[in-house]
Amino acid sequence: MAEAALLAVEYGSSIAQLLHGHGYGPGHSVSARAVSEGVWLTCPACDYVGAPASIANHSKKAHATTIGEQAQGAER
Ligand SMILES: [Zn+2]
Repeated sequence: MAEAALLAVEYGSSIAQLLHGHGYGPGHSVSARAVSEGVWLTCPACDYVGAPASIANHSKKAHATTIGEQAQGAER
């Protein structure tokens, strides 16, 4: 149930209800399914999974220095 609450906070209750409507619920591999279908992405720096916008937001908060260094290195 904690996972459902996290989903509701992270992606909005509408998404959680959508997942529930498709038969997915807490404890199911909905994240892996979403990643395999290309809907969600996996964070390159950890095992965080979420929509592209969520990954970007997560990276800024959790891996700001890491992502920044990688971006600068790529440009040079
Ligand atoms: Zn991460």
